[in-house]
Amino acid sequence: MARILVCCAWPYANGPFHVGHVTGSLLPSDIFARFNRMIGNDIIMVSGSDMHGTPITVSADKAKVSPETIANKYHEMHTKAISDLGIKFDLYTSTHTRNHEQVTQDLFLKLLEKGHLEKKSTPQFYCDSCKRFLPDRYVEGNCPHCGYERARGDQCDNCGNDLNAPELIDAKCQICGSVPALRETEHYFIQLQHFQEELIEYVEANKHWRLHVKAFTLNVLKEGLKERAITRDLSWGVPVPVKGFENKRIYVWFDAVIGYLSATKEWAKLEGKPDDWTKYWADPSCKSYYFLGKDNIVFHTIIWPSILMGYGGLNLPYDVPANQFMVIEGQKFSKSMGVSIDIPDLLTRFKPDILRYYLTANMPELKDSEFSWQDFALRINNELVATYGNFLHRTLSFTFKNYGEIPARGALDERDKQALTRISVAADEVKAALSACEFRKAMKSVMDLAQYGNQYFDSVAPWSLVGTDKARCGTVLNISMTICKALSVLAFPFMPFSSESVWKQLRMDGSVEDVGWKGFELPLKEGEKLEKPVPQFAKVEVGSSGADFQQFAALNLKVGKVLDVQQHPNADKLYLMKVDVGKTITMISGLKDHYTADELKTKTLIIVTNLEPATIRGVKSEGMLLAAEADGKLALLMPDKDLPAGTQISSGMEPGEKVVPFKEFQKLEIRAGRSVPGEPSTLDLGIRKVKCTVDAPEGGKLYAAFVLGDKALVLQGPDKVKITFDRDITVGAKIR
Ligand SMILES: [Zn+2]
Ligand SMILES: [Zn+2]
Repeated sequence: MARILVCCAWPYANGPFHVGHVTGSLLPSDIFARFNRMIGNDIIMVSGSDMHGTPITVSADKAKVSPETIANKYHEMHTKAISDLGIKFDLYTSTHTRNHEQVTQDLFLKLLEKGHLEKKSTPQFYCDSCKRFLPDRYVEGNCPHCGYERARGDQCDNCGNDLNAPELIDAKCQICGSVPALRETEHYFIQLQHFQEELIEYVEANKHWRLHVKAFTLNVLKEGLKERAITRDLSWGVPVPVKGFENKRIYVWFDAVIGYLSATKEWAKLEGKPDDWTKYWADPSCKSYYFLGKDNIVFHTIIWPSILMGYGGLNLPYDVPANQFMVIEGQKFSKSMGVSIDIPDLLTRFKPDILRYYLTANMPELKDSEFSWQDFALRINNELVATYGNFLHRTLSFTFKNYGEIPARGALDERDKQALTRISVAADEVKAALSACEFRKAMKSVMDLAQYGNQYFDSVAPWSLVGTDKARCGTVLNISMTICKALSVLAFPFMPFSSESVWKQLRMDGSVEDVGWKGFELPLKEGEKLEKPVPQFAKVEVGSSGADFQQFAALNLKVGKVLDVQQHPNADKLYLMKVDVGKTITMISGLKDHYTADELKTKTLIIVTNLEPATIRGVKSEGMLLAAEADGKLALLMPDKDLPAGTQISSGMEPGEKVVPFKEFQKLEIRAGRSVPGEPSTLDLGIRKVKCTVDAPEGGKLYAAFVLGDKALVLQGPDKVKITFDRDITVGAKIR
């Protein structure tokens, strides 16, 4: 029995999980941990939400709530997503606990005592009107490399260069906009260079590391390590346990990696064996594995080992099988064309095992992989449903229909014996691949066995045996069910929910989780009654990838609140309106036959803000309101729930910045459609029905939608607030 500690990178509590987090760290950790539990290893898996740091305080300042409110909100969301996805931690905690604070401070003080921390004075921006030091992210200015105007003090989002705040040109306080001045402030710096030689030896000795992880780490080491600040002027985070540092906090990157140790200690306390953490940290035979994305490598192969070396007596990472990135249809880690890739959203549409399958089969182990909806549908429908699910279901349903119980196994011929051998081969392959953290390869071996199962079933043709030789037919079905049983054991680390369900359908006792790898040896219970089998997976329909709707993204739509309505001075039929779209604009509209000026004054509208401005009878119109028109009637577009003026109606796309000529706008088809009760994802346009790509609205209501052939994308703002109408209007009415 081996002892193993599985460490999963700490997700930041500043937004929901998306597919990148799951395929990058959560899923590999879980597969690896489940497998090791199954083969009887002594293993624990820990992680938690990273609650500290300036991205959270910046979000909190913007939303005018405490950082704790933001962090807690996402921590709860993470905890739920983890449970819904079937990611099984021994402890999923957070960095905002008393225990974590104590462990972090203990490490800090020990490093200080051993001379690995040095106090230094450095210049930092201070805002006189805010009366505070400004951490990097609190300063904005022009990038010294590319000139981008909103570069942050830590990084330029335009050119990607890392920055130091004093390098910014025309730096401004991000909170109040005033010009900050540099002032001296004291901070502690960890002397990473103390560990340079020891780190090189350590990394070179680890022959089993993924090549890209090792090469990257050695490259950083070759450039030479420098001291790095581990405290900052902030009020949110772990307090610095030194007099005079009451207004400072420990830097988030320093305390987050300590989370692995503090979580293990917390786990041990919760288990009622407070010293048991030493089994995973102080016993050199325990191997620790760290699962994370490539942007996190340096923290786990250099910084965390440095802290551990400095502290002494604790195990260094045994392996850091970092993954590369999953690119989202060309856009790294962002929402793709109106289709959310956030896990909570995806879980409302797909079973967790469906997501787990795709994210394993497409895991970016050695190079970047791409998440595309087309590929998703293809792999789920052609591999998981047509091969894996199909073999399970045809075996179980044929047996149920013709026997109603598990048939007895008679004499075996060569083909049957070969099938049993094939099971052992698959088990060995999966075991070897998972032990080496080769998840895609392991998954492939499981699928190959399912494929083999189908070939076996076809070649023994039970449908032609059932009328002629029922005993022989029973034998081949028994062998087929034995393959099903092997699949449910082998697939358990990847797809635990369906594995348990198949195990039950096979009338096996207990659970796959409990019997583990021994499930291979447990015999089928011949003569046991079967229940009507249910298919494990259904084909998925993802409709259009959403990417088609890109042409609509050219429109920059905003919520507008009418401020004033006047008669146009030179045209009887026209109104002159002032509208707040985040700023006040002037608009001309021809609504006189449909609305009085007083009616309009209370309206919330949807405005195209980037059309080529038109001058109508001597007055410039700076925006165009959207309205549906049919049969001489007119209805104005409005949000389904109240949204503030200036809110972007992006429908999940990146809104256009460029000016759109009116001719281009006229080419776009936008219509009023009625959602159809009982037909999810369907929008009735009167003359035809179309399929919605995302988030079908509930039945019966009228919505504004972009239309492309037989597909539609319902217009929506933040929090999925849909766009509807202020009056009833003919279904299918054109919007312009
Ligand atoms: Zn730049
Ligand atoms: Zn300020």
